[in-house]
Amino acid sequence: MSPPQIWTAEVVYTGFGTPMRRGGLLVQGDYVVATGPLDELRQGYPQAEVVHKGKALTPPVVNAHTHLDLSSTPRFQGPYPGFIRHVIAHRSRRTPEAVQKGLAELQRHGVGAFGDIAHSLEGAAWLVEHSPLPGVVYLEVIHRNPQEAEAMASRLARLVAQLQERSPRLRVGLSPHTPFNVSPPLLKRLSELAQKEGFPLQMHVAESPEETELMTQGTGALQAIPQSLGLPPYQDLPGLTPVRYLAELGVLGPHLTLVHGVQVDEEEVRILAQSGSRVVSCPRSNANLGCGVFPWGLYLKHGLEVALGTDSLASSPDLDVRNEALWLWGRVDPRALVRAATRGGYRVLGLETPRITRGTPVSQVQSW
Ligand SMILES: [Zn+2]
Repeated sequence: MSPPQIWTAEVVYTGFGTPMRRGGLLVQGDYVVATGPLDELRQGYPQAEVVHKGKALTPPVVNAHTHLDLSSTPRFQGPYPGFIRHVIAHRSRRTPEAVQKGLAELQRHGVGAFGDIAHSLEGAAWLVEHSPLPGVVYLEVIHRNPQEAEAMASRLARLVAQLQERSPRLRVGLSPHTPFNVSPPLLKRLSELAQKEGFPLQMHVAESPEETELMTQGTGALQAIPQSLGLPPYQDLPGLTPVRYLAELGVLGPHLTLVHGVQVDEEEVRILAQSGSRVVSCPRSNANLGCGVFPWGLYLKHGLEVALGTDSLASSPDLDVRNEALWLWGRVDPRALVRAATRGGYRVLGLETPRITRGTPVSQVQSW
């Protein structure tokens, strides 16, 4: 039998408790045989060689927010409204082949689970049938006509149920695109149905300053987009910031995961924490699209469970969620980042966090 080794890294996280600054894993052959503080392991196993494994040792990480169908869309850099125009201009590239390409990349990065927004039913159906990984596929909803809300909600709930029936691994949910691209009655109805039927929602909220301007004043670069496409302008906007609007509409709660949550103040973070809603941060995408900086300090202060996502290859250089954490390493407490990349992601997707304990195969330990 090969001699035992003690693996260590800047942060060691076993999937439960607090990530350890000076932690280690005792490894023998292909298995973990003990975990604990590095000094204790060295005392207990003085003959074991100490091997430094880099920044972190963790259970498989989770990419809690991506758009695999944008994997063949060229990468955009610039303000958020320009990104929306870019995605619309390249919409023919959102094919099942693009989904396949993105899924292969996630597998190369060794993710344990993922959350994906599917723009088309075809893309969602492909993923449901082919994904070997667990997670959630959220069918995207963009629908602004309030007169059709009831019929649309019934149709969407049926689609979720049908896809779920065909899905061996993934849960199926819905993604109302943004607070401004779904009518208030539809959003309210989808929230009720999600709670009643038990399917999850994921929504882009408080992503950009332009979103706040549109929601509070009805003006700005986002307002110009529907008109340039020959669509009716955004109307009857609430005059409230995105989070306050969702709170007033009564749609916050554990069934709803907010993606981004950048443009928020402390009171809004408190509202989110009290509602039990969850949050996914995509820091490199936010930087690329000039959206601002996620206020980690506020979210951690109010005890929200934060997860990490890459967003798509159209706004981010790769789908490796570890690179989101490493990009912030030191600017944000690395232990919070490690937890977000693992436990936070599993929680957002409604999955158990795998634990590293005596008997865990080393193939289930990810080094960063
Ligand atoms: Zn997104």
